Amino acid sequence: MIPDLPLSALVEQIRSGAVPAETVMSSVYDRIDKHESQLNAYRSLLPQEIALARAANIDQRIATGASVGRLAGIPVSIKDCICVADPELTNTCGSRILEGYHSPYHATAVERLLAEDAIIIGITNMDEFAMGSSTENSAYDVTRNPCNPEHVPGGSSGGAAVSVATGMALLALGTDTGGSVRQPASFCGVTGIKPTYGTISRYGLIAYGSSLDQIGVLARTAEDCRLACDILQGHDPKDSTSATQTLVAVPETAELAGLRVCLPEEYLNAESLDPEVRESVQEIAECLRASGATVEQRSLPFLEYVIPTYYILAFAEASSNLGRFDGIRYGVRKQRENSLKSLYATSREKGFGTEVKRRIMLGTFVLSSGYYDQFYGRATQVRELMRSQVQTLFDEFDLILGPTAPVPPFRFGEKTADPLTMYLTDLCSVLANLTYTPAISIPGKPTASGLPVGVQLMGRRFEDQRLLAIASLLQGLDS
Ligand code: GLN
Repeated sequence: MIPDLPLSALVEQIRSGAVPAETVMSSVYDRIDKHESQLNAYRSLLPQEIALARAANIDQRIATGASVGRLAGIPVSIKDCICVADPELTNTCGSRILEGYHSPYHATAVERLLAEDAIIIGITNMDEFAMGSSTENSAYDVTRNPCNPEHVPGGSSGGAAVSVATGMALLALGTDTGGSVRQPASFCGVTGIKPTYGTISRYGLIAYGSSLDQIGVLARTAEDCRLACDILQGHDPKDSTSATQTLVAVPETAELAGLRVCLPEEYLNAESLDPEVRESVQEIAECLRASGATVEQRSLPFLEYVIPTYYILAFAEASSNLGRFDGIRYGVRKQRENSLKSLYATSREKGFGTEVKRRIMLGTFVLSSGYYDQFYGRATQVRELMRSQVQTLFDEFDLILGPTAPVPPFRFGEKTADPLTMYLTDLCSVLANLTYTPAISIPGKPTASGLPVGVQLMGRRFEDQRLLAIASLLQGLDS
């Protein structure tokens, strides 16, 4: 049994010897035995005896009086697109084209976890190349929602969210290009943060849309996310887009009273908004008001354009990033005829799934001469306008509140026939990526049938710690 404690307190117990790391690990593997065959959260997993040996090694170091890190013995899962150099684990990005790939190096985020003595136990399932909102686009079978296995866990970090929701890991790294940490966190009833763009290194993250991609954290609570962000955030010379600006520190006395919160009408009145999700958001708004915050509804007309802007930019960047998977530089090599063209074409035809091919083709189109200005150029300008409008909005408000996703977890197959209906589920999450701002999803009131619903808070750039502190206060209110 693992005591029900914040991670920092659990690590103290491990350090004092009261709860051996080996016991924590064996409980986590009991849960894996119980859930994994039905839910398929993991793409590859450390054999139990190796995981236990690594935990025992932490216990031995503690017994000899050596100092151990802030995540000593904590079992962590890593999304399949973040590189882990371990002969027991593979990184496939949910794609056939990387089947069997072993990374020769660790991502910086992984290095930082290991430096604090976390134990990486497995690689989690995801939509292929992080393209999707349900984990149905993984080339390696779907992951199921633990609250109801007939429903999707969200995506693209579906495996990460399920690993934390079921206790098959105590902390997970995911990635968020347009909502992929927050939306699965919301669908599985856990907490997920996409930090300010550039504050966690992307070195070793297999790119989807580089100007939008951000490694994020999933955990049970905002407090646990805060510990992980403390460890992960900070400049990395290996990533040229890594931020050099330091995060704004929060006063110890962060409080809800006096906060000015904006609730965009376009979220609340969206045609696609499920009434139970609306209720959940309104409940958190009431909680904030009762604690002395002001919550003001405001129309933000630019929200009408977030989905087209995001998808044009994401497809364009993806089509360029995925050019490296050609069967020569990266990717499984397949060839029909004896020609270079056949090698490229066959490797990609066999290696990529339908959604990835669709996005590469559309991305190539919006970047092609004649259309570049009309689509990519304009989307870039619109993004800049959104960035400056959001910045101005944050002169007046401290937070933007909304649903994480307009709908609760949907059923398998419900949105796969028409990709546009799937894209529309990103309505509330993409703005944070387009404007480089931090955003967190915390569990709100579930639906009547017991499905989780997430509520999102967006904060100012580099004020991640304040956002996490506010989310912790809100989570403290209902416990
Ligand atoms: N659902 C969005 C997409 O398919 C976001 C994915 C993500 O954040 N990786 O692009």
